[in-house]
Amino acid sequence: MDKERKKSAKAFKKAERVIPGGVNSPARAFSAVEMDPIFIERGEGAYLYDIDGNKYLDYVNSWGPMILGYNPPQVQKKLKKQLKKGTSFGAPTEVETEIAELIADFYPAVDKVRMVNSGTEATMSAIRLARGYTGRDKIVKLEGCYHGHGDSLLVDAGSGVATLGIKGSPGVTESIAKETIVVPYNDREAAEKVFAEYGSEIAAVILEPVTGNMGVIAPEPGYLEYLRQITRKNEALLIFDEVMTGFRLARGGAQELYGIEADLSTFGKIIGGGMPVGAYAGRKEIMDYVSPVGPVYQAGTLSGNPMAMQAGLATLKELKNKKVYSELEAKGEKLEAGFKKNIEELGFPAYFNRVGSMFTLFFRAKKVKNYQDVKSCRQKLFAAYFKAMIEQGIYLPPSQYEANFISLALSEEDLEKTISANYQALKKIKAEL
Ligand SMILES: *Cc1c(COP(=O)(O)O)cnc(C)c1O
Repeated sequence: MDKERKKSAKAFKKAERVIPGGVNSPARAFSAVEMDPIFIERGEGAYLYDIDGNKYLDYVNSWGPMILGYNPPQVQKKLKKQLKKGTSFGAPTEVETEIAELIADFYPAVDKVRMVNSGTEATMSAIRLARGYTGRDKIVKLEGCYHGHGDSLLVDAGSGVATLGIKGSPGVTESIAKETIVVPYNDREAAEKVFAEYGSEIAAVILEPVTGNMGVIAPEPGYLEYLRQITRKNEALLIFDEVMTGFRLARGGAQELYGIEADLSTFGKIIGGGMPVGAYAGRKEIMDYVSPVGPVYQAGTLSGNPMAMQAGLATLKELKNKKVYSELEAKGEKLEAGFKKNIEELGFPAYFNRVGSMFTLFFRAKKVKNYQDVKSCRQKLFAAYFKAMIEQGIYLPPSQYEANFISLALSEEDLEKTISANYQALKKIKAEL
């Protein structure tokens, strides 16, 4: 029952000639699952349609933004309206203030917001601001967390970097990399040691409060509180990179879910509603350190672009209703119960992690709580599972080092279909173990 993907195969060959690896972001390559990427024609609700006419139930959500599903009418409407007025002016528009107000409303720790064009730009700018504000150089990052591809943060990173099995990247100089100190996630003692040694030189700790880019891992009880406390004590800033978790785990992201206020927060994905957007935000006294009021320079020709702001605002407005999150949680619970039952029934060596509408099925039997645990997963099994799922029309992120996303567009039947596909896939690969 292999799906025919002739047009995709052809399109990929053509793309490879003019685009490195045939893709504009390495996460889209299917190298870890030894397949060619699938070329998409369109998306509608919970489904993606490829150029060969195959239909897939989607758990990638364009890597996070599409929490409402693909092509939501509320967003479409706003984009069409803006399109008639113009796509870019390079001058302020009212929609920029409106979306900033909404973000500040959702996040108690946020007074002011600066819009940029990607998550990468958001974290790069937040790091620069943290260094400028504190007058310190060193950054602490957690092993396996991914914060975009900025030089300072491309050290022991997750997502595509982990999938490709590389430690850092040529082109990131020694002198930059050495200002970044990497400690394991969920490890208080490691953080404590680093602060004992470098406390007065550390500008900030940056982390994914719930990780997605090494697969989904929740913070152990007290861990985030500990980081909040030790950064405060050492007068370093705590940066929550909520590019993935922001507006997804709760309206106020991981900060609302765990009751922690970060000094700086970075956003992306959902705030753009499927358009290229990022943002960094925080308390007034820190944010006012940014140009033009403050000395830390940061700018962008297309920042706050009206098309992008309209898509983001329309998406965030849908998330104003807190019921959205209980609905996502219910969907997550259903899927979790189904997957766990399958694992148990088949006696399959897998471990399921979920926080809200983010989850990862890890191919190892024992608990997964940090990057080393993820690295010990059986990648070949993951690849076999991915293939068995895609052949049943379920589109998952093509790497063990990623989060799966549940969107509001998924119906009860969609979830049931996924649970039974999961059973079939695990059964099939178990026979081949
Ligand atoms: C996706 C992601 C980024 C990078 O965002 P881009 O828009 O891809 O540059 C940064 N941090 C986290 C936590 C992410 O998930």
